[in-house]
Amino acid sequence: MTIQDFITTTLNLKQDQIQNIHLIKSHNSLEIHITLVNKSYTCPRCGGKCKNKGFNNHPRHYQTLPFAGMSSTIVWHRRRFVCSDCGHSFSEENPFGPENFHQTYSLLNQLLIDLRRPENTYLSIARKYNLSVSTVQLYSDSFIHVPRLTLPENLGIDELSSRMSKYGGSYLCIFVDNDNRLLTEILPNRSKHSLSRYLEAIPLAERKHVRFVTIDMWEPYRDVSLKYFPNCIVAVDPFHVVKNLCQCFNRLRIDLMNQAVYDSPAYYLLKQWHKLLDSDYNLDNEPKYNSFFRRKLNYRDLYNMLLALHPDLRLAYHLKEMYRDFNRNATEDDCEERFQHIYEAFCESNLYCYTDFIGLLEHWKPEILNSFKRPYENRKLSNALAENTNMRLRSLMTVSNGYSNFERFRARALFCLNNHVYYSLTSRLTTLKRQGKKRGSYNKQSYLLSDDPNNSIDTITDHFIEE
Ligand SMILES: [Zn+2]
Repeated sequence: MTIQDFITTTLNLKQDQIQNIHLIKSHNSLEIHITLVNKSYTCPRCGGKCKNKGFNNHPRHYQTLPFAGMSSTIVWHRRRFVCSDCGHSFSEENPFGPENFHQTYSLLNQLLIDLRRPENTYLSIARKYNLSVSTVQLYSDSFIHVPRLTLPENLGIDELSSRMSKYGGSYLCIFVDNDNRLLTEILPNRSKHSLSRYLEAIPLAERKHVRFVTIDMWEPYRDVSLKYFPNCIVAVDPFHVVKNLCQCFNRLRIDLMNQAVYDSPAYYLLKQWHKLLDSDYNLDNEPKYNSFFRRKLNYRDLYNMLLALHPDLRLAYHLKEMYRDFNRNATEDDCEERFQHIYEAFCESNLYCYTDFIGLLEHWKPEILNSFKRPYENRKLSNALAENTNMRLRSLMTVSNGYSNFERFRARALFCLNNHVYYSLTSRLTTLKRQGKKRGSYNKQSYLLSDDPNNSIDTITDHFIEE
């Protein structure tokens, strides 16, 4: 394949369409001069015969994909035709790019493929193709248009902390299709009011399709789910319950630590080795020398020492582990019985650190039990996917140096995290850029006059304008 063949294939041209092609390399850019084969055209207005009027005075420039690291431009010597019957004049058909654009289809396509990856920022894409950031944003806004997507059958609702949230909240609300692992919607606020307004607008028939909703423990999610999805089962995400439980346990651990004498064995153990109580470790590891106790210890020694520190800590730990075991191993059939047993154990323990957690168990009992239902692929109902999506969204926000434009973020995020969202190359450009404040009337002299602090700039400016 010659280099010319290579170029023509990337431009979607056939060899027999090209009359002449030659490359000019200058400093760090490549110009590809192209003339297409002279076709006979019929007049687009009257269908009459046309004759060639020669080339346009100015060749058409199209920026195309960088070639070998050089910015490449197509210089197209475009023919002009005139109708012999009606005199209508028109240009040769354009295979390179949209009219009125300065980029080829192949560049625009590649640009959108790059936009699909969350790790690419507008700036990195702009640099890659020698465009400005605002051009990349303009194309992104114009070609990626994301309407409301259909509600999934197994819906996960979650939130994302962001300063883009609107109406006084500090969280965005995220809808995820738990089955197909896709992001389906981002709302600018997670309040009951905004959720209701959004869901009200969706036809009932569609809402009836939603069978399962997994949520974290945010009250409005349950309220709106039960109200607007008449056929749904609401399950609370088990991960959030356990997280809450661990926080309660940690509170006790930290309280005990703060009461211990600084640098005492109790303080040392609670400060340095609490991870042994947080999650599952292989405790029977090879003993290592411990410089605090001046002897060889393995994890099990430390673990036993920790639990021996205080009866409350021991009890709290066992309760926590009991719940974690329940969470992992209970089934749809025995979960209710086991739940009741655990609930009573928590109540009897009388530990102050679990007061809130007992309240949580009472308040969310049906939803916790629902999470043991396994309607899909033997997986428990959970928000795990929503959490994963959440993480990817956060990375999208991080690489983009913190988005501030919600509409643009929504479109980009859905485009990145839902492969059912497509793009279309249109020649109509639209922008999601927000309207800034209008620039005020500015009069240099007014500032010079405003030495007197009582004489505000505003009044002086007004005065000048009136004159
Ligand atoms: Zn004509």
